[in-house]
Amino acid sequence: MATKQFKTESKRLLDLMINSIYTHREIFLRELISNASDAIDKIYYKALTDKSLSFDKDNYFIKITADKENRILKIADTGIGMTKEELDENLGVIAKSGSLQFKKENELKDGHDIIGQFGVGFYSAFMVADTVTVISKALGRDEAYKWESKGADGYSIETAEKDTVGTEIILKIKANTEEESFDEYLEEYRLKSIIKKYSDFIRYPIKMDVTGRRPKEGSENEYEDYKEEQVLNSMVPIWKKNKNELKAEDYENFYSEKHYGFDKPVKYIHFNVEGTVSYNSILFIPENAPFDFYTKEYEKGLELYSNGVLIMNKCADLLPDYFSFVKGIVDSEDLSLNISREMLQHDRQLKLIAKNIKSKIKSELENLLKSDREKYEKFYKTFGRQLKYGVYSDFGSNKDVLQDLLMFYSSKEKKMVTLDEYVSRMPEGQKYIYYAAGESNERIEKLPQTELVLDKGYEILYFTDDVDEFAIRMLLNYKEKEFKNVSSGDLGIESDDKEDSKKSEDKETIDLFSSMKDILSGKVVGVKASKRLKNYPVCLSNEGELTIEMEKILNSMPN
Ligand code: ADP
Ligand code: MG
Repeated sequence: MATKQFKTESKRLLDLMINSIYTHREIFLRELISNASDAIDKIYYKALTDKSLSFDKDNYFIKITADKENRILKIADTGIGMTKEELDENLGVIAKSGSLQFKKENELKDGHDIIGQFGVGFYSAFMVADTVTVISKALGRDEAYKWESKGADGYSIETAEKDTVGTEIILKIKANTEEESFDEYLEEYRLKSIIKKYSDFIRYPIKMDVTGRRPKEGSENEYEDYKEEQVLNSMVPIWKKNKNELKAEDYENFYSEKHYGFDKPVKYIHFNVEGTVSYNSILFIPENAPFDFYTKEYEKGLELYSNGVLIMNKCADLLPDYFSFVKGIVDSEDLSLNISREMLQHDRQLKLIAKNIKSKIKSELENLLKSDREKYEKFYKTFGRQLKYGVYSDFGSNKDVLQDLLMFYSSKEKKMVTLDEYVSRMPEGQKYIYYAAGESNERIEKLPQTELVLDKGYEILYFTDDVDEFAIRMLLNYKEKEFKNVSSGDLGIESDDKEDSKKSEDKETIDLFSSMKDILSGKVVGVKASKRLKNYPVCLSNEGELTIEMEKILNSMPN
């Protein structure tokens, strides 16, 4: 039997995988169980679309068997199985996800609750096993195959015996070393608790033969040994559970189980709404931006369920673009299962849910800002741009939702402040909210144009993001205070110094300015005496709609 080689990249990936991607070894079980669940989902999906197949839920389950003596842990499923080619492709190429492909191929018609998509989960088995054997019989095939691998060296495939359709993953659990013990992965109680922790809401029963000792029926002091098959998972999805029974850890597990991200969410929001439209929802604010967040490939959306059954993997209509970083699920009994994508867009219930969700996210972010400033600032550092784009792109129509979530660096506080904080500190007589735009805080600090405003004791907000000034223009004002760039012609500040204005009327000065204008012709519209300078001899200012910084940005854009 020839051993096939993993591709070289695969070899390295496998090493990386086994040693570093997962911090907890125990999650190998979660990965194998979610693959099993995916496989059952697929056969269920086929039954939905193929009239010649029927799906009887009772026949579909996942079975875990532990054999301590031989150090064998087996995970068997009654899912769709794999053909010889699929064994080769899906398990022979690391980071190749058959499930992702299945979703792509089928999603044109419908969505489905298949968890897998990265094509690495399977290999986590090598964290606890030194040999992994897969025996599988695919739906509609007579022959079964055995795939076997001892890790990075490669794998073999040969024919095998298997009566029923489905897959068996057989792990030869590693021998204990001096530093590490692997025995726990063969212990009933340990397996039970891992399954409860990570796979409780898997929608198919996860069964295991459990042994124990209990009082004999009808007797008070006689005991008996028993061995019985138990279902270990509650199968109730987390969002249908009572909030009081759930811990932060449960939400975090759900987050990674769903592959929403590799990070820990900054915040989770679990809420139930009853009313014109009823639904349960769990939303997450991620800590890190997904790697493709600022690319065209990034798809926003929430998972949408109708009473526990998935309708769509990424329902984009549920999230405005400026909250596109939010992950999570919505489950509503009021949505029809058979609703098509096109119909969904016009669905009144869905629109209502989307509106609710939007204000929920807003108010939760405001709460975070109030209750945990540090966390909020961290969030804002990662996703603040998205909020500012939101203000800009919808012509200020999201003003109410977004304006209180914005933050800018303050000349006075030397840290990020909200517009509300700025306005509440404004001394009497200050007409505008002043800001200065530039590449960095350091650069802005050196701008001559800031002198007069700072001299007056007024606070300046620093705009260092390209989008800042454009966004603020869309807001027009905040609490009736207009925004003013410190470099604009009229700052609305009275000069105390009468001398200056007299001087600029001198014949000598007028001549000087006009010859300066000649020399700079085509570069400036005019040369004027400025009231705002103190330590600097000269500065640029603008008249008209666009500020100098905005022009720079527009000029640098590809047209
Ligand atoms: P992912 O689940 O992210 O796709 P995995 O590494 O966990 O990646 O699995 C790779 C692929 O192997 C899956 O996409 C699926 O096509 C196939 N596979 C794994 N386990 C099973 C199983 N129990 N039954 C059927 N196919 C499976
Ligand atoms: Mg998987």
